[in-house]
Amino acid sequence: MGAPVERTRIRRLPDKAVRERDALHAVLDAGMLAHVAFVHDGQPYAVPVAYGRDGDSVLLHGSTGSRLFRLLAGGAPCCFSVTLLDGLILARSAFEASMRYRSAMVLGTCGVVSDQVPALRLISEHLVPGRWDVIRPPSSKELAATLVLRLPLAEWSLKVSDGWPETGPEDEGWSPPVGVIPIRTVLDDFVAGEA
Ligand SMILES: Cc1cc2nc3c(=O)[nH]c(=O)nc-3n(C[C@H](O)[C@H](O)[C@H](O)COP(=O)(O)OP(=O)(O)OC[C@H]3O[C@@H](n4cnc5c(N)ncnc54)[C@H](O)[C@@H]3O)c2cc1C
Repeated sequence: MGAPVERTRIRRLPDKAVRERDALHAVLDAGMLAHVAFVHDGQPYAVPVAYGRDGDSVLLHGSTGSRLFRLLAGGAPCCFSVTLLDGLILARSAFEASMRYRSAMVLGTCGVVSDQVPALRLISEHLVPGRWDVIRPPSSKELAATLVLRLPLAEWSLKVSDGWPETGPEDEGWSPPVGVIPIRTVLDDFVAGEA
């Protein structure tokens, strides 16, 4: 179990909070896309990135020319989030319409990873297992243009919504279909091609 830290204690609908670290790992392992939020010159930005989990941290990689990666490498605090959308909850009312989801949020600062190749391999294997062994490895010039960052899974929250639509007395007389439209992510068949 991860210790709830005040900043990551779920206040709104706390019954949806999950504190098991294994559950956090499972969500991070199931996702492929993260959003990393940071503040620059007073303006918040949320940037989508690929990632991979390495034990109790996540690894990110990007260009040395990327503002996001330069700021994070310099110690800027960030908020890393991964959301898996599992369904649309269709209720009798607009107010109770909702979503099923598993949503992870990690706060912290990143460290720069000097041993880049194993980290890049881990990210690649997370996205397409087996791919690293058949592709050209990065050259020293490509590595010099790449920043690899590690964010510890130290301060985190996980919120899971897996319920059904709620109905109240005020919904009497309204009888639309109620239930859930499940959503799943499917990796389709490979399509060969080259630019
Ligand atoms: C796919 C999806 C759709 C959503 N749609 C809506 C919507 O339309 N309207 C709406 O009001 N809310 C929606 N939510 C819930 C929303 O993400 C917030 O949890 C909610 O709005 C409460 O925000 P808050 O800042 O008051 O949370 P608080 O509970 O005050 O946040 C305190 C701490 O709890 C943690 N936390 C809060 N939310 C999340 C989360 N989603 N995942 C992980 N950790 C979290 C963070 O660590 C945060 O610092 C949605 C969530 C998901 C995943």
